[in-house]
Amino acid sequence: MDVFGLVGNPVGHSLSPPMHEAAYDELDLEARYVTFEPEPDAIADAIDGAAALGVTGLNVTIPFKQDVLDCVEADELASRIGAVNTIDFTGERVTGHNTDAVGALRALRDHDVTIEGARAVVVGAGGAGRAIAFGLADAGASVAIANRTASKAHDLAAEVPDATGHDLAEETLAELLSEADVLVNATSVGMDDDETPVPAETLHGDLAVLDAVYSPLETRLLRDAADAGATTVDGAWMLLYQGVEAFELWTGRDAPVDAMNQALRSRL
Ligand code: NAP
Repeated sequence: MDVFGLVGNPVGHSLSPPMHEAAYDELDLEARYVTFEPEPDAIADAIDGAAALGVTGLNVTIPFKQDVLDCVEADELASRIGAVNTIDFTGERVTGHNTDAVGALRALRDHDVTIEGARAVVVGAGGAGRAIAFGLADAGASVAIANRTASKAHDLAAEVPDATGHDLAEETLAELLSEADVLVNATSVGMDDDETPVPAETLHGDLAVLDAVYSPLETRLLRDAADAGATTVDGAWMLLYQGVEAFELWTGRDAPVDAMNQALRSRL
């Protein structure tokens, strides 16, 4: 029996258990996916304990994504992003990875969005914004990062190849978006409220818009984007594909994407 899980605090409302369990059912794998909620100062002991107990893989969420960098051998992308969301215990060493970046790319590609050569605007420079900005740049996009706290956008842009940093003023967004192909919301704006970080007037029909927010599925930003004729990609696609990537990393098998997607969407 393989044991996988999610470590975070809190993890009570996570959608990862049903999504991964659906994959095990579909492929007849003898595996379980459980949630762990260690105290904030116990994360290193928790990772060591998981390794000692023979846990196969862990996902990591808030507030531990940065802390676990010190407990694992992070791969090159996770090190650059500065956060680990997937730990793999199957090799000789305990390794850390970041599947949020690839999750966002796969979500876009799944909707026929071309990343290579695209001009992308990432709104937000927190954990999700960092992962997505590095992912897009690695895949060949030029990236403009706009953030409420502009200094964080400038700092991140200095680390990401071919990136620029900006504030979140309406005129800034209007200028950036007029020439953009891809827009990603990586702020928490729109989560459980009806707000948007991007004024509707700045959107247009040549954009593909990914909202990392997945609750609600149809955010105000995505409604505005659809009204403008843009391609829309909701946050559940990113959530799905970060889980698909983790599953494939741990098991070495192709994930049953449809079953995982169904399990996820039936709960949103
Ligand atoms: P975070 O590290 O706390 O960053 C939050 C970001 O939101 C910062 O850029 C912050 O700007 C910005 N922000 C917050 N309130 C704002 C407001 N009122 N106006 C403008 N900007 C505001 O959070 P995170 O981990 O990056 O997560 C961000 C969102 O992505 C969350 O909704 C999360 O659920 C979602 N997410 C989704 C996935 C997925 O798989 N779909 C994966 C990861 C995260 P400042 O720097 O100015 O504070």
